[in-house]
Amino acid sequence: MSLNLNSPVGELRGVGEVRRKALLKLGIETVFDLLHHFPRAYQNRGEVTAVARAGNKEYENGDAVSLVLTIGTQPVARMIRRGMNILKFRAFDESGTVEIIYFNQNYLKDVFTVGSSFRFWGRVHREGGLLKMTSPIYEPYVEGIPLPDLVPVYTVTQGITQKFISGLIADAWKEVSGEIEDIFSEEKCREYDVLSASNALSAIHFPNSVSQISKGRERVSFEEVFIIASALAAEKSRTAGSTAPSLKGAELRRYTDLLPYELTGAQKRSLDEICGDMEKTAPMRRILIGDVGSGKTAVAAGAAFACATSGYQCAIMVPTEILARQHYEELRPLFASVGINVELLCGSTPAAEKRRILSVVSGETEELTGDIHILIGTHALISSSVSFKNLGLVITDEQHRFGVMQRAALAAKSEGVHILAMSATPIPRTLSLVYYGDLSLSRLDEMPPGRQKVDTIIVDERYRERLNRFIRTHAAAGNRTYVVCPMVEEGQSKTARAFADKLKSDPEEMADMVIFDKEEDRVPMKATVEFARELALKLPDLRVGVVHGKMKSAAKDSVMRDFTAGNIDVLVATTVVEVGVNVPEATLMIIENAERFGLSQLHQLRGRVGRGDRKSFCILMSDSKSIKAKERLAVMKSTWDGYEIAEADLRLRGAGDFFAASGRFRQHGAAANFLFGGDVDSDIVSSAIKAAHNTVSADPELTSPENGLLKEKIGGLVKGIDNTIS
Ligand code: ADP
Ligand code: MG
Repeated sequence: MSLNLNSPVGELRGVGEVRRKALLKLGIETVFDLLHHFPRAYQNRGEVTAVARAGNKEYENGDAVSLVLTIGTQPVARMIRRGMNILKFRAFDESGTVEIIYFNQNYLKDVFTVGSSFRFWGRVHREGGLLKMTSPIYEPYVEGIPLPDLVPVYTVTQGITQKFISGLIADAWKEVSGEIEDIFSEEKCREYDVLSASNALSAIHFPNSVSQISKGRERVSFEEVFIIASALAAEKSRTAGSTAPSLKGAELRRYTDLLPYELTGAQKRSLDEICGDMEKTAPMRRILIGDVGSGKTAVAAGAAFACATSGYQCAIMVPTEILARQHYEELRPLFASVGINVELLCGSTPAAEKRRILSVVSGETEELTGDIHILIGTHALISSSVSFKNLGLVITDEQHRFGVMQRAALAAKSEGVHILAMSATPIPRTLSLVYYGDLSLSRLDEMPPGRQKVDTIIVDERYRERLNRFIRTHAAAGNRTYVVCPMVEEGQSKTARAFADKLKSDPEEMADMVIFDKEEDRVPMKATVEFARELALKLPDLRVGVVHGKMKSAAKDSVMRDFTAGNIDVLVATTVVEVGVNVPEATLMIIENAERFGLSQLHQLRGRVGRGDRKSFCILMSDSKSIKAKERLAVMKSTWDGYEIAEADLRLRGAGDFFAASGRFRQHGAAANFLFGGDVDSDIVSSAIKAAHNTVSADPELTSPENGLLKEKIGGLVKGIDNTIS
């Protein structure tokens, strides 16, 4: 039986059950997925450096280099301790000498014969005046026989090596390269000035030049944008004639009277724009963008008020239960006095309560207390099990945490309903064209009065004691502290260690080292619970709480509630607190291993403090020596503008963070992960969007055979998203 794109990778030679599972972890299930597992970097082994130059400062803590060396001394093997052998020899070029070291590879003695030449790839360091290279990758170097210059580096996982996955991709490519389907005809590829799908894959996995890699990436980005923009345009054209109820904002005065403060000018303007849309029968598709703390909730509540007082139901959806509960606890009392009923529906809602809410919301049963006017919950709200009696408005908060296709799926499910999305703007302009291109925009470009700038300070471990004292002073003044630790997969640090050990014994694994080689990855990570325990020991007089994603919702909620109420002084958390949590008495945000976070994420986290009128601080704790990491963190000190930070993030980290990268999306054809996002240039984005709009306006239902594959991909994408919603 011959291999095709849909074949499971298990059918490839060398992939047994263990490796199949490991590949699955990388989101690779089929041959198609494998070929769309793109390199995360390339080693430019072709750029050979002279030893004299490799010894310069610039290479000292950094990038791997390529050296072409002749073996100068016979390798000598020595046992340094039980089970650990070390092999050493010297090798040279015209400009200098390097000592090369391998661990537990004694057989290499016979490979590195004096006088033969090799190309070595690895990092150098200087020790006692001598330049050394440990466990480099080696390739026999023979004049006239070319070696590959650009070697892809793939994201791998335990049990899958670089060598293995490169080989697997090459094998698969040999068999299926002839049957790569392309959503664009040859003619279209010429018109759009992009490579064919097949040429792009070949350029990405087996490049001959850097410019070829860019061409390949361009094609992938173009296609991703094209598919998403087509999906949105097709959806828009499909629902063009549908109508929504006209919701009147006439009683808004009553709403603003409920608030303990005056709305800012920006809030009033946005609310006017929203109400203007909702009065019309064309369904609203609007996004409210405002930096963290700009007061989006109050605007959303106004829209919900207008909806409820017009006799329709409003659904408010947020990404986490913590946030859902917070909104619930804020809105329920606010609206109680005007007879608007607010309910909460979450995964953790007790079954009986769930049944009651579902039946009231659908109008099946009536309660003396009246209808449910506003229902708050996670995305489960829009699943098919919830049927609304007369839904008029759907609000999604922290929209950037959901994918763009999730929004499209939501729009499809909410035909005839107004939709208001809200986001804290971490989308750079280039990408927002794709992401929000189909929406009207309201912007909160003004902060509520009395806000203080959060002082941002970057420190390392040496400041630990002082920092702990700082926490204590804060608590003594009645203020609260967040400590955020990066997400750690269970046993990850152990795995990393085992991996590093393995590296020492297997030079071919050196390529994998690139992944742990980034300085930031070698910093030991503070696991949340472990960290909290340590902190509690050091600050015995304070009340320390923990909240992380693996906890049951009820437990999470109760900790959050204790923190809000002031029964906890220090909350050690993972990024579950990132989104929208509002505790005005929290004035100190400490972020551990700050280098591990995206800038936009740091910005969101920083936005958790400085919410009241007290002076607030954000401490970025980082021991990373990497220059890049330092550069990134420095951005946080110099700017408070969400847009600027998002742009810097895109530049320094790529777009992966902006579009939840997930194997699930990849399976459905459009990666939606903008893998090469760092390079997505606005010309490609806008020409892909234009191409998509032309395609959809010429063939709104995508029924022509030429658009068959596109239609299929969009269908798969929406279906995949749908599953994640319900
Ligand atoms: P975000 O836009 O990040 O969702 P929130 O809606 O959570 O921000 O608002 C942040 C804080 O600002 C809340 O404590 C809220 O009560 C307060 N707030 C909102 N609007 C105003 C305003 N016009 N005047 C004073 N405080 C406000
Ligand atoms: Mg919010």
